[in-house]
Amino acid sequence: MKHRIGLAIHGGAGTIDPALLTTELEGLYRKGLHEAAEAGKTVLEAGGTALDAVEKAVIILEDNEMFNAGRGAVFTAQGSHELDASIMAGHDLSCGAVSGVHGIKNPVSLARKVMEHSAHVFLQGEGALAFAHDMGFSFAPEAYFYTPNRWQQLLEARAANVTALDHNQPKPIGTVGAVALDSHGNLAAATSTGGMTNKKFGRVGDTPIIGAGTYANNRTCAVSCTGHGEYFIRKVVAHAIHCRMLFAHEDLALASSTLVGELHEIGGEGGLIAIDYQGRIAMPYNSGGMYRAWWSEGLAVATAIYAK
Ligand code: ASP
Repeated sequence: MKHRIGLAIHGGAGTIDPALLTTELEGLYRKGLHEAAEAGKTVLEAGGTALDAVEKAVIILEDNEMFNAGRGAVFTAQGSHELDASIMAGHDLSCGAVSGVHGIKNPVSLARKVMEHSAHVFLQGEGALAFAHDMGFSFAPEAYFYTPNRWQQLLEARAANVTALDHNQPKPIGTVGAVALDSHGNLAAATSTGGMTNKKFGRVGDTPIIGAGTYANNRTCAVSCTGHGEYFIRKVVAHAIHCRMLFAHEDLALASSTLVGELHEIGGEGGLIAIDYQGRIAMPYNSGGMYRAWWSEGLAVATAIYAK
């Protein structure tokens, strides 16, 4: 069956108050999203793999301090960083994930190494760091991950004694993710985050949990989620969309919007990006907005934060 190559990326969903988003800030977010989508598009147009496209797009967002992943990751309660990421290939269901790592500039690439160079799927904490060392990753100093906005967010969250989904803060910045369909008909998904500001006790959200925050299966779709992770874990959102398509024969738009609606019913705020095996894209959210960009063969890259 003919399919149309394409991709979608997100830079987080949440309460994005238009009054707090200056024209300058909005321009910076859109520029960052555009650059990441263009990079993924270049990979796909050259006949590259969906896996390479999603990794490339996520790396660019991890390197951009505007987003809550890699360099711009939020602070934990201890004033440190615990980064989570995952990646999945839809053609053979291979996947890799890491959680609670620090000093790694691009956790998505470490997740990919877990997928391709270990006998495991999910490594956490010190073990994941030892694996990174074995894989030849260089470690960035803490200063690389220090951004004044994030530090301020931690001080505010500490003062209010809350664990904050970063988008509730005046400076809305979010988790990142990408999904893609390549010319070989293969799907892939990747997600990366710093988690929630002021998180304690080694808290891990949905991002590195295959089936919750990230999932890809060539039979149906590739999905990357963003929002209040505890709710996405409860609903196993990404895998549930796959199941609805496979067993209930729903299309991508219906399956994904149903899940986002169900999340809302249990108090979960957020959204997701998804692409199906034919290249149709869905990007539903139940929050004030979701930073996103998308591209389909023959069209230009587009970005949106709210309805547009
Ligand atoms: N889902 C992420 C988490 O709960 C946060 C986010 O998407 O902003 O860790």
